[in-house]
Amino acid sequence: MRFPLFIATLMFLQPSVAHAESAAGEILEDDLRGHIEILASDGFAGRKPGTIGENKTVHYIATEWRKAGLQPAAGADSWYAPVALVDRTSLSESFAFQYDNGKRVKSVRIDDDQLLLRGAKPISSLSNIPLVHLGYGNQTVEEMEPVISGKLALMFLSSRPGVNGFPGYRERKANVIAAGASGVITVIKSESRFARAARRFRTANTSLDGEGKHADMEGIIGWKAVTKLLRKVDLDAEDLRDEAKSEIFQPLLLDIYADLSAETQVRSYVSHNVIGKIAGRDPASGAVLFLGHWDHLGECGPKNADDRICNGAVDNASGISLLIETAKRLTDGKSDRDIYFLATTAEESGLLGARAFAENPSFQIDRLVAVFNADTVALAPNGKLIAVVGRGETDLDEDLEKVAAAHDRKIDKTDKANAFIKRQDAYVFLERNIPAFMITSAFSDQKRLDSYLEGRYHDASDELDDQLLLGGAVDDANFHVALGRYFGNVETYKAKNAPNSAANSAGD
Ligand SMILES: [Zn+2]
Repeated sequence: MRFPLFIATLMFLQPSVAHAESAAGEILEDDLRGHIEILASDGFAGRKPGTIGENKTVHYIATEWRKAGLQPAAGADSWYAPVALVDRTSLSESFAFQYDNGKRVKSVRIDDDQLLLRGAKPISSLSNIPLVHLGYGNQTVEEMEPVISGKLALMFLSSRPGVNGFPGYRERKANVIAAGASGVITVIKSESRFARAARRFRTANTSLDGEGKHADMEGIIGWKAVTKLLRKVDLDAEDLRDEAKSEIFQPLLLDIYADLSAETQVRSYVSHNVIGKIAGRDPASGAVLFLGHWDHLGECGPKNADDRICNGAVDNASGISLLIETAKRLTDGKSDRDIYFLATTAEESGLLGARAFAENPSFQIDRLVAVFNADTVALAPNGKLIAVVGRGETDLDEDLEKVAAAHDRKIDKTDKANAFIKRQDAYVFLERNIPAFMITSAFSDQKRLDSYLEGRYHDASDELDDQLLLGGAVDDANFHVALGRYFGNVETYKAKNAPNSAANSAGD
């Protein structure tokens, strides 16, 4: 009785790969639904990086791509590129502040619930460290370095002080750390926003493991505490906030010193990007990249809920299913350029997998003529406008119009979807001047998108049921195949930015 069982196990462990499953013809709803059903099942546990859900997910994607006829492209014959991550969970902190009133040093009492700290190490402390009011921290690294190096930065959170193209919070904080700040304390003015941030602060914060990405100490402080601190040195918090918005604002060294210590749970682990490749006939002509994030949130439902698993059917099992089916259609040997497929990890923690890939790519990314990110494609019925996140950012808009026109599709010209440009994996490539887009008809209908964002988005209810609309996803998937054909072929698309293209070797 045992022998047949043993055979069965072996067969399970070795998926049949005798024939490639490259497919011709249109992608259909059932093609996508089949993958979503698996990726968004409870067995995949919400696809959280570093869990059993990750193992199942990355294995599934690599298996599907291998069946489609792709080659592994993470380096050394592997599908999996390791991404070192670290989770930091703030456990407790203590702090004391002193100021110099010109005659002697006095201490200021700050309420316990007004300041939360997280250390880079399990036990971190800074003593007698001077505070610098950095405004929004939007000066250049070089400008900030002389005044902030080795000190504690007080920095406002707000990302929109009325200036277009103002850098986001994450970018500003990274610059402050690059300028050598030992600590960064973010000032949050709104009480309700501070309360929300405080709750989040006690849950794990995920980041790429590596030097220089963290200050020794990071924290958040409430408006009441900041107002009190500044008043001691005859400064007004409201005034400083207004001044920080002006272009001539200069960081201000304060006569305030802090002793800070924090206890932090630090967990390091390795997650993975999955990378596959379709070799082109003329690799010197460049490459095209399709990507999408495989990760989701694991369990995110309320503590006592029956169903706590956040299956992420829309976000982003839908995008991964699109990538699997698109790959199958493009393995027929008709592409001049190499076509790469990348499934990223830890997008939900701030595009970390995409950033890790761009910092340490397994192929030369300056060969890329176009990048397409598939995220959140299952919200609209078929026949909707195509929203192009990244429209107006590159010189590829006309080419996208051409592909759309050839396939009876129309592109949304409102550019509203660009509001999401920094919140999706393609942004990492745009930052490096590589033309990159997120293309989805799910983002062209603001009302529909809003109701998703207020409802199922990052909620346990984002699962596969009959509310999931796959008509638009199918449109988008077939459009991605068309994009692969167009940008993969040197006849249809003569690269403007490829290293070996005529435009670049013209000697100008
Ligand atoms: Zn998400």
